[in-house]
Amino acid sequence: MKRIYNFSAGPAILPEEVLKEAANEMLDYKDSGMSVMEMSHRSKIFQQIIDEAEQDLRKLMHIPDNYKVLFLQGGATLQFSMIPMNLVKNGVADYIITGHWAKKAAEEASKYLKVNEIASSEDKVFSYIPDVKNLNISNDADYVFMCDNNTIYGTKYHELPDTKGKILISDASSCILSEPVDVSKYGMIFAGAQKNVGPAGTVIVIIREDLIRKDIDPKTPLMLRYDIHAENGSMYNTPPTYGIYLCGKVFKWLLNMGGLEAIHKKNVEKANLLYDYLDHSKMFSGTVDKKSRSLMNVCFRSISAELDEKFIKEAKQQGFDNLKGHRTTGGMRASIYNAMPMAGVVALVDFMKQFEKNHSH
Ligand SMILES: *Cc1c(COP(=O)(O)O)cnc(C)c1O
Repeated sequence: MKRIYNFSAGPAILPEEVLKEAANEMLDYKDSGMSVMEMSHRSKIFQQIIDEAEQDLRKLMHIPDNYKVLFLQGGATLQFSMIPMNLVKNGVADYIITGHWAKKAAEEASKYLKVNEIASSEDKVFSYIPDVKNLNISNDADYVFMCDNNTIYGTKYHELPDTKGKILISDASSCILSEPVDVSKYGMIFAGAQKNVGPAGTVIVIIREDLIRKDIDPKTPLMLRYDIHAENGSMYNTPPTYGIYLCGKVFKWLLNMGGLEAIHKKNVEKANLLYDYLDHSKMFSGTVDKKSRSLMNVCFRSISAELDEKFIKEAKQQGFDNLKGHRTTGGMRASIYNAMPMAGVVALVDFMKQFEKNHSH
């Protein structure tokens, strides 16, 4: 068996310890004689898995009691529809456009309400987070939408927008559990699991109870109603059982290492190593505003597209895979999520140094 250093943006690397544990339990989970994949979601043994996953996530993020935790399906993308469908009241919402995903969310929401784009960084190809201290928040905004970490461009908010009392909703798909957050500042946080938590197919929704309403359009499909999922403990229908089980293991892995403060410290060390090299290299450079840099997705390029291509190819041969930037940006992107060990970043920087040496004249 050979494991590579996997810098994929998502689905992405998972902690090796977690995968090994899951492998050990694959055929017989805790003397049940079955795999978690094979058991009824209505069984006591699965109920314990989902309850523990929720409790551990609450512990990790210090989620207040007046928030529900839901494990849903449909990817982060389905939340782009569920949010306006469930939260529309006045028929207006404010969106901060910091990249591809925020834009998609706004486009989808505009089917259900009037979308005001109150800030955007599209003028510079989303290479920065706009100033969010004094936004033009709509008086009647049902909520304000942000995408906290912009997976494709490699930017991250380092302060929260001042929403002037309006509900803040955050797409945290590529930064959830990477650092401590104050959940009480948000109405809702959601994340697809496949970037920083678990396998694709599970979506985590953390939503304040008063936002879960019954007085919404009665034509809303039951599967797209937060009230239905909340009342049924995420089990209105069969939930993504195996995904929830693996997410739960990752929550325990994080708790065992000391929680979000501990992983944040490691994430800062990893990102700093890479950004410091990029800041000093004559061949490679980071592509985003320094004040907006992401800890999770590090975007960079060399001095030419040809050299970028050569770098990606040689890196792959050396066991550093998925370094190609998104098809819309080109260049390179190293996604260094929670599960990427420091050793992986050290090895990548060493490889980059060697590459720079070999290709400079
Ligand atoms: C990947 C990603 C999405 C899309 O997730 P799906 O699970 O494929 O729907 C949405 N938002 C962000 C920030 C992402 O990184």
